[in-house]
Amino acid sequence: MLEYDIQAAVNRISLTDFGMAFQHRATFNGRLRTTGGRFLLKTENLEFNPKMFAQVDEATRVGIIRHELCHYHLYRQHKGYKHIDQDFKHLLKQVGGLRYAPRLTPTKPIRIWVYRCENCGQEGLRRRRFDTSRYVCGRCGGHFALIGQRSA
Ligand SMILES: [Zn+2]
Ligand SMILES: [Zn+2]
Repeated sequence: MLEYDIQAAVNRISLTDFGMAFQHRATFNGRLRTTGGRFLLKTENLEFNPKMFAQVDEATRVGIIRHELCHYHLYRQHKGYKHIDQDFKHLLKQVGGLRYAPRLTPTKPIRIWVYRCENCGQEGLRRRRFDTSRYVCGRCGGHFALIGQRSA
């Protein structure tokens, strides 16, 4: 579980980088997938992606927080708070916020090929497929048969 005081981090970055207090709530939302965070127009609260925060370094976290704070402060000042607005682009550049959320590395399990000796039943696990006619079992000299794929 990620130990990160998101509310404290947003409060601090708002004061140091924007010179204005963040007066709403900042929380983690586990349902966010590809975005680093989001600004909720209804409540003016900020939500952040805990999976992304767990995978990136502190500089990237600060960049994500600055991005969301740009939406927040511009909206409250009745300025252009959307990605396409010049106000947004300008402020984002000024405070050094991230333009795009970083790509998460997919947590795909490693797949391996499973072989079994047709003679003695010895199992062989390989990252790459091999030609079963070219290799024999190290234990009995029998031939291997491809059983299938399995997660490592
Ligand atoms: Zn945004
Ligand atoms: Zn064998």
